[in-house]
Amino acid sequence: MDIAILGGGYTGLWTAYYLLRANPRLKLCVLEKQIVGYGASGRNGGWCSSKFPVTPAMLERRYGIEAARSLMLAMKDAVEEVGCVCEEEKIDAHFHKGGVLTLARTAPQLPMLRSTFAAYGRLGIGSWVRLLSTEEAAERIRVTLVRGALLQSENASIHPARLVRGVARAIEKRGGTIYEQTEVLDYEGGPTPRVVTRAGEIRAKTAIVLAGESYLSQLPKLHRVVLPIYSLISLTEPLSSEQWTQIGWHDRESVASCNYTVDYLTRTADGRILFGSRGAPYRFGSKISDDQDRHAQTHAHIQTLTREWFPILQQTKFTHAWGGPVGMPRDWMPTAHFDRDLKIASARGYTGQGVSTTNLTGRILAELISGQGTELSQLPITQRQSPQWELEPFRWIAVRYMQNAFQRIDDAGRQGRTKPVDSFAAEFLGRH
Ligand SMILES: Cc1cc2nc3c(=O)[nH]c(=O)nc-3n(C[C@H](O)[C@H](O)[C@H](O)COP(=O)(O)OP(=O)(O)OC[C@H]3O[C@@H](n4cnc5c(N)ncnc54)[C@H](O)[C@@H]3O)c2cc1C
Repeated sequence: MDIAILGGGYTGLWTAYYLLRANPRLKLCVLEKQIVGYGASGRNGGWCSSKFPVTPAMLERRYGIEAARSLMLAMKDAVEEVGCVCEEEKIDAHFHKGGVLTLARTAPQLPMLRSTFAAYGRLGIGSWVRLLSTEEAAERIRVTLVRGALLQSENASIHPARLVRGVARAIEKRGGTIYEQTEVLDYEGGPTPRVVTRAGEIRAKTAIVLAGESYLSQLPKLHRVVLPIYSLISLTEPLSSEQWTQIGWHDRESVASCNYTVDYLTRTADGRILFGSRGAPYRFGSKISDDQDRHAQTHAHIQTLTREWFPILQQTKFTHAWGGPVGMPRDWMPTAHFDRDLKIASARGYTGQGVSTTNLTGRILAELISGQGTELSQLPITQRQSPQWELEPFRWIAVRYMQNAFQRIDDAGRQGRTKPVDSFAAEFLGRH
């Protein structure tokens, strides 16, 4: 074997896809513990966005205008690239470029939109964004309490599972092998790196790739590289055409609030509303378990929010509810890294913004592994590592405090109360 990849999500699959496209003779396999798309890639909110886990303003502060701008342009290309591959490989992933609409629903949220707008301008990509008045926002979508919006054009909507299964088929067509129900228990770098499974070990001449995102935290050697943070989604039944006439939302824009607990919405191709928001609370020791996906209290909260946003949906049923963990690095910055001595590559740490970012990191890893260098190798996510998370119990105390504080800040905004006294500290710590 030349390459062995842990993880049948977008990261592992995009890496495999671009490696095989560059060299069709490569012997490559993907090892997936469950089935392809079992992780976040098969169950996300469908935003394929040029938005990046770190805000444009923070990128500018950390890396300077030029590097921040290059990264944002690379993210825009990633959105286009996902659309192109869907076309070339005939993947019917419901790719639709409708932009993203971020709604301010309280007065203090308006300056947040203006400051994001200004940051795009400073990076020379101001043409991607437009501030909308209350009336202009309502022409696009009828949501309660909206005071203004930011429309960002470089964003598409996709069907997550169709995309991940489609890329897997494209890999198999090009000669790659995917082993499902195959858990990697351990790995080791070196001249011939190897991955260990219950059925035996696979040695790879060129590289092994660790593409398990939040689940990497379950491998003892990588326990503190990412934190599994849950995001949960509820899905309505298909709405009637009268309901859609009242709501608008004709261009299927991805929609978000300015809340710290991150509300993200999609109008699906089959006419439902997907409402995603905060997830179940962080579990001690970075535990991941399926019952967290169905945290009843959080789903009830999301369904209440949906009805607050769209009062005409009081009687509408929710047909599906699910969720999953996202991988959060200590500095919010994703990583695409290849250790040439150990022959271990890894990309991870998208904090819930991975649909397009994985396409970018997959191309970067393919380039690094095959020894080609292009301008992608110069991006600030390339050949870097984030600091490790703190040991428990400090990790649990800090994360639970932040989750709780963000919820209290958002609740205060919703109910028109002043922010909690500790909001300054939480907002400072949560800057990204
Ligand atoms: C509810 C939810 C909503 C989201 N919404 C959006 C969105 O709208 N837009 C956006 O950009 N991002 C979103 N994200 C994040 C995005 O889906 C992820 O960033 C992206 O899918 C990560 O892809 P990945 O391949 O790195 O990880 P995953 O898709 O998690 O894939 C990792 C795979 O590795 C496998 N695996 C783990 N351990 C092992 C092992 N030891 N051996 C073998 N296989 C293993 C897992 O089973 C899994 O299939 C969302 C995430 C969630 C959970």
